[in-house]
Amino acid sequence: MSDKGFFDNFGGKYVAEVLRRPLDELEVAFKEAMADKAFLDELEIIRRDYIGRETPLYFAPTATKLLGGAQIYIKLEGLANTGAHKINNAIGQCLLAKRMGKKRIIAETGAGQHGLATAAACAKLGLDCTIYMGEVDVRRQQPNVAAMELYGAKVHPVTSGSRTLKDAVNEAMRDWAANPDTTHYVLGSALGPAPFPDIVREFQSVIGREVKKQAAERGIKIGAMVACVGGGSNSIGFFEPFINEKEPRLIGAEAGGIGPNVGENASRMTGNAARDGIMQGYKSRFLLDEDGQALPTRSISAGLDYCGIGPQLAALGRSGRVEFTSVLDKDALEAVSFFAKNEGIMFALESAHAGAAAMKIAKELPPDQAVIINMSGRGDKDVFITSPVFRPAEWLQFLHAEIERLESNKDIHDAKVMGERK
Ligand SMILES: *Cc1c(COP(=O)(O)O)cnc(C)c1O
Repeated sequence: MSDKGFFDNFGGKYVAEVLRRPLDELEVAFKEAMADKAFLDELEIIRRDYIGRETPLYFAPTATKLLGGAQIYIKLEGLANTGAHKINNAIGQCLLAKRMGKKRIIAETGAGQHGLATAAACAKLGLDCTIYMGEVDVRRQQPNVAAMELYGAKVHPVTSGSRTLKDAVNEAMRDWAANPDTTHYVLGSALGPAPFPDIVREFQSVIGREVKKQAAERGIKIGAMVACVGGGSNSIGFFEPFINEKEPRLIGAEAGGIGPNVGENASRMTGNAARDGIMQGYKSRFLLDEDGQALPTRSISAGLDYCGIGPQLAALGRSGRVEFTSVLDKDALEAVSFFAKNEGIMFALESAHAGAAAMKIAKELPPDQAVIINMSGRGDKDVFITSPVFRPAEWLQFLHAEIERLESNKDIHDAKVMGERK
C-alpha cells in the first residue's frame, strides 16, 4: 500500500484542482468497498464464473528440458475471458463504480486491449461505456475497435496532440473533471494519480495470490518470477504477495525494441533516456527529453510501448527488490515461437518479453527451483503483427485476396441477407 499516495518519493496526485474531489471520493469509496463483504463476494463470483478464475499454473516440461536449469512454469493469465489480465482491473473498477452509484464509465486505450476489457465489463454489468482512443490508434487497431463496438461501447477518436495514448488519457481526464458525479474513469494500468496505482494493484493481485497458493499446494520452490512491464499492472499484481519477502527474485521485462538509442525502445528503468519526472498526474520514471517532454517510444508489442511506468515499480526498481531487464523485439518473437512449438501455448507479444527473459534466467538457476512466467495475454490478437514477420509473402497474398473479396461485396451481401432472414 502507498503512504498517502507515495511509494518512497514516486507517485502522488499532481492534478488540476477539479480532479481532487473525484480522486478523494474514489479513495474513500475504494476503502469502503474493500471492507464490504457483499462487494467482495460479488467480485469473487464474477471472477469465477465470468473471468474464469483461477487461471492454471502450467508446468512446461519440454521448455524445462530444452533450456536446462530451473523448472519452467507459466501462469496462464491469457485464458481469462477477453484474453488477458486487463479484465481483472476492468471488472473490479466497474463494480466499484456501480457501488458508487455511477452509471457511466469512461476509459482511455492505446492498442485497444484495455478499452476492450472495459467495454466487456460494462456490457456484463449494464453500464454506459465511452472509450477515448487516439485517432491514429483507431485507424491502426480496427479489430479492437470493432470488438469494443460489438460490446456496445462508444469509441471516441481523439484528434489532439499526437493522436495516440497520451492524448486519449488527457481527454478522458477532461471528461471526468466535467462529469464527476455521473462518471467513473477506469484507468488501465497501475499508474496515474493516487489512488489509481493502489486500486489497480489490488484488483490485479489476484494473480499473485493464486500463484502463491498453487505453488504451496504443489510444493513448488519459486526461484524467480518474471513479468512484462508496460504501465506495470500485470507485473505488480503478480509480484504483490511476494514484495515484502526476501525471496523469490522478482524480474520485470521492459520493451527493448530494436536497440538502446532514443526512440528505439520503451525502457524506462534500464534505458539511456530514462529519468525521474512528473507526467499525467504522478511522479515516476519516464523517457523524457531535456525539456521534460515525452520522447517517442518503440516496441513490437503495443502494450509495452509507453513512456511511463507505475510509481510503485519505479520505487521497487530503485530499492532493488524488483530487477529490470530489457528484451529486444526479435527475442520476444523468438519466445513466441519457442513456447508455441514446444508447449502449444501462444504468448501475446507483451508476455513473450517475460518469456524471453525467463529463458535466460532459467539457465542460471538450479533444477530444484522454479521460474514462473506470467503469460499476461494470449497471442491470437497479434496475428496481424506476427504473420507478416513469420510468413510475409503468404500474409500479403491473403490481405490482397481479402481486399478483393470485400470490394466484390459478395460475402458482405450474403451475410446481411442471412442476418435479415433471422
Ligand atoms: C496491456 C498489456 C500489457 C501491459 O500492461 P501492464 O499494465 O504493464 O500489465 C501486458 N500484456 C498484455 C497482454 C497486455 O494487454
